[in-house]
Amino acid sequence: GLEISREGDHAIRFSVWDTGIGIQADQLEKLFKPFVQLDSSLSRQYTGTGLGLALTRQLADLHGGSVGVESEAGKGSRFHFIIPIQSLNAKTLEDTAREPSAQQKPVKTRASQQVDKKRILLVEDNAINMMVSNDYLSANGYHVDTATNGFEAIESAQTHKPDLILMDIQMPGMNGLEAIKRLRATPGFDSIPIIALTALAMPGDRERCLEAGADEYLAKPVSLKKLEEIIENLLR
Ligand code: MN
Repeated sequence: GLEISREGDHAIRFSVWDTGIGIQADQLEKLFKPFVQLDSSLSRQYTGTGLGLALTRQLADLHGGSVGVESEAGKGSRFHFIIPIQSLNAKTLEDTAREPSAQQKPVKTRASQQVDKKRILLVEDNAINMMVSNDYLSANGYHVDTATNGFEAIESAQTHKPDLILMDIQMPGMNGLEAIKRLRATPGFDSIPIIALTALAMPGDRERCLEAGADEYLAKPVSLKKLEEIIENLLR
């Protein structure tokens, strides 16, 4: 079954459940770890990579939400994820108050109300991070170009002249630091806003990124809302 309900004033809860074999209590926490299959025997009946729930948790976290599960062996399992809706609600109300006919129009975010979409170059070698950030930025009204290493980033920047660059630092081929240095040395790119992002932040990362020419430095995981605030600030 599937159920959608409000979770307080600022979130929606999606629940799905079955009446299947259920999950033992001591197995529940393992479920959300990547590459874990509860039945890991070679002759197991069910296949899969064991990534689905780990991805679900990561996506929910990035949106400021959560996932969970309750289960009783032999009776079935119930999974849920909770997603905040506060900002969407606030914007919808604002729009409605300003414009009587706004109800008939699709919900617009601030960025998409601008006549010209701002162009963001998203540089990221991790496919999941890329997908999540791309979806979020596109949904918030930005035009997104993508690159998966420093070489592609420089090429894309020269072709598309983005308004802002989100630069992952750890990437194969040419890393983000080198790409930032080369861009800063390229005519026309000395003042374009660049946000550097690192996973597994090390002491000195911030200094290295700023020294290479980044305007901002963020350690992953970054909440998408925070990221958007910083982007809007830099684009202002
Ligand atoms: Mn990376």
